[in-house]
Amino acid sequence: MAISIDISQIKSALDSGTGITREQALAVLSCEGIPLLSLLDLSAGIRFRHFGREVLIHILNNAENGRCPEDCRYCAQSASSSASIEVYALKSDEEILAEARAAHERGAFRYCMVFAGSEPSDERVEHLMGLVRTIKERWPLEVCVSPGRVTSEQARRLRAAGLDRLNHNLNTSSSYYSEICSSHTYEERVQTVRAAKAAGLAVCSGVIVGMGETKEDVFQMAKDLGALGADSIPVNFFIPLEGVALKDPGALTPEYCLRVLCLFRLMNPRTEIRMAAGRERHLRSLQPLGLYVANSLFLGGYLNAQGGADRETLAIVRDLGFSIRSEVPLEDLLKVEHPKVRIKDQKDLRPFCK
Ligand code: SF4
Repeated sequence: MAISIDISQIKSALDSGTGITREQALAVLSCEGIPLLSLLDLSAGIRFRHFGREVLIHILNNAENGRCPEDCRYCAQSASSSASIEVYALKSDEEILAEARAAHERGAFRYCMVFAGSEPSDERVEHLMGLVRTIKERWPLEVCVSPGRVTSEQARRLRAAGLDRLNHNLNTSSSYYSEICSSHTYEERVQTVRAAKAAGLAVCSGVIVGMGETKEDVFQMAKDLGALGADSIPVNFFIPLEGVALKDPGALTPEYCLRVLCLFRLMNPRTEIRMAAGRERHLRSLQPLGLYVANSLFLGGYLNAQGGADRETLAIVRDLGFSIRSEVPLEDLLKVEHPKVRIKDQKDLRPFCK
């Protein structure tokens, strides 16, 4: 398919405030479309204007793992999954607090606690409120929780306890949602995002790209998250863990992943865009270019998948001449030996653009 849209039309759409059209978005996402370097140049300019050269480091704590009754087909914790994961009930407060301290010492700006399950009970929310208060008293960390679907009242209570941010991902587009989950709807996810915003919480709401969705779906996700006022958008790239219900559609290449990051940056210029799960596997050697677009990343791994070694990721930040927002200097963090972590299952790596 011949694509006639060029970078000047994208610039005009941004300058005039009309926003990027569906056709322009498809040209951004197509490897035969706008040249990648032109897109990167435009996206990097926006990133530098709003966020300078700073990278926000996030560290995830999977505070509870497995036995979720929902059937999200991409998720190793789902009832529909036979993935071999370490199932455990909620970690003790001592363990969660020790991991918050460790996250601070590893240079984290934000500490994210993730809980399995559909929706928290009021007792669970009360418990989270205590953890949030303690962490905020002890360390200069921003705290984010991912508790599942919450009511407006629960969101208000979490905010009152000092919670900075609530994570609830949309994951995919409205029209594709029923393909990846049947136990709840896209609209239910949107309601939680709205409840959190209304309570005054910052909202982190992201996507998983590479689950079989179309480029139109990717455009719709970037548009919907902008309309919802997401403060942070983690862009995850699907990691097909063995045993999850969703089979790998095999759609991702490093170039396409970069184009996806560019589209989210162009359509959400002031939003924190994160290179999230799967960056090692799917962006591969193009990860440094991703940081010219995204301004945050996860360090050290994801919910049920290993990530790259801390030092390798931090070296990318240093080599780019970027900085991190942390009390711990980047050079000190680079001296710490962390175990070398393997990136699993690279046997079917794909070419840069196919
Ligand atoms: S994504 Fe969340 S709600 Fe869905 S199965 Fe996994 S833990 Fe449960």
